[in-house]
Amino acid sequence: MESYDVIIIGAGLSGLAAGIRLSQYGKRVRIVERQHYAGGMNSYYRRGDRCYDVGLHAMTNLSNPADHAAPLNTLLRQLKVRRDDLKLCPQQCSSVKFPDATLCFDNDFETLRSSVREISPQSADGFDRLCQAIRDDDAFNPSLGYLSARKVLASYIDDARLCDMLLCPVMFYGSSWLDDMDFHQFCIVFRSIFFEGLSRPADGMEPFINVFTRRLQENGGELSLVKSVQSIHMENGWVKSVTLEDGEEIAVKNVVSCAGYPETMALLSSPMDKLPARGELAYTETLFELNRPAAELGMTDSIAFVNSSDCFSYRPPTENSVDMRSCVLCIPSNFTGVHETDGVSVVRMSHLASYDYWKRLDKNDYRDEKERVMDCQQVFLEQAFAGFNAHVTRREMFTPLTLERYTGRVGGSIYGSTEKRKDGRTAIPNLYICGTDQGYLGIVGSLLSGVVIANRYLLR
Ligand SMILES: Cc1cc2nc3c(=O)[nH]c(=O)nc-3n(C[C@H](O)[C@H](O)[C@H](O)COP(=O)(O)OP(=O)(O)OC[C@H]3O[C@@H](n4cnc5c(N)ncnc54)[C@H](O)[C@@H]3O)c2cc1C
Repeated sequence: MESYDVIIIGAGLSGLAAGIRLSQYGKRVRIVERQHYAGGMNSYYRRGDRCYDVGLHAMTNLSNPADHAAPLNTLLRQLKVRRDDLKLCPQQCSSVKFPDATLCFDNDFETLRSSVREISPQSADGFDRLCQAIRDDDAFNPSLGYLSARKVLASYIDDARLCDMLLCPVMFYGSSWLDDMDFHQFCIVFRSIFFEGLSRPADGMEPFINVFTRRLQENGGELSLVKSVQSIHMENGWVKSVTLEDGEEIAVKNVVSCAGYPETMALLSSPMDKLPARGELAYTETLFELNRPAAELGMTDSIAFVNSSDCFSYRPPTENSVDMRSCVLCIPSNFTGVHETDGVSVVRMSHLASYDYWKRLDKNDYRDEKERVMDCQQVFLEQAFAGFNAHVTRREMFTPLTLERYTGRVGGSIYGSTEKRKDGRTAIPNLYICGTDQGYLGIVGSLLSGVVIANRYLLR
């Protein structure tokens, strides 16, 4: 039987980062990934001769390359990855659009600050004080308990609409809670979007992920694709080995998993009495391909967070497959320097979705519902950007079931379980959880989580 210091379940970005860091220090590491490509929820796929990103809208935490303390720069130093190799292209301008107000932001924080002053002059001082509290928060301290972000925001800002407008992008990009979120998590995501800024890799996720897989392999780390961990075996309360779906058995000293907390615990040979709760938040993601630059149709935002109802609702719909009242729009060509194929542009659209609704549909109804939702999305886009429909050459939609099928995330839950393992530990001393269910969300959060787990527990 082969033996490893560490087996990593999943080549999500957190698993890749943990693998790089561990192999850098001579640990014998193997990452086992069930899919054909690394990257997990932020991977890519091919259609003909084109490569498409699964979900990428924007990468947070851009920061100034000269800022040595910025999370992205610290992270890349630890992984020995050159920032230039990631070819990050900054956003131009983005917005939060509510029925009678729009907040504008870009990678200069002053743009958001002056936009707040414009739409809610009475909140200007409160907003500044809130920003100071966000800067000061010890957000990564794993011993901090849940604090309602809504309550904290309301204590600084006496304008419910503005509070909703600030929560909307932060929740969409990083909350596994419904309608509220932990204030410490709010601080992490707020800083990563508004203080540090958004970007996209120039050619999408494939070359971005290749930078990390190459680094792993240069260190001597192994990556086994299209291999699935079927079970984790225990002896006297410790993990001793894992078995793959093809029957291979591997002896291990430690296991790190980015497959999710409930998903990992379900692999144990001695199951827990009660599995951790699955997360409820799920999205649909639609990709429209246009035969014209989106900006020529008036789509000038890099990212737009749109909400059309009086109050912003952040929870899966109960009566419908998707909640059409809010969405996130991403236009990759509106990031400075992004490479687009001649004249073709892409518009991505995400909606909050109900996993249970999609799950109930039979094959034909499922296909029809996807078409119906995409038709509704096009009605909305045509109203907002006249002429949009005439330029759509292809459209494709992922549902929570697609995400579940490809990544194994139970319920297609994009931000994982609400039972976060903030310190990455489980009840089993040599089994660790990294990534989404450690509470580190998004691309940069996941990479950071892998480094934290390696440094904190396995390189001492
Ligand atoms: C549609 C969509 C859009 C997104 N957009 C953005 C964005 O614009 N910006 C951003 O920063 N973040 C975005 N995210 C979030 C981001 O993708 C995630 O936060 C991050 O990638 C999670 O990484 P992870 O390492 O925690 O886990 P995952 O990416 O979930 O990786 C887990 C891996 O484990 C593998 N696996 C599971 N079970 C097994 C098993 N038994 N054996 C072997 N392998 C297994 C899976 O196949 C998967 O590759 C998006 C996510 C989605 C779904």
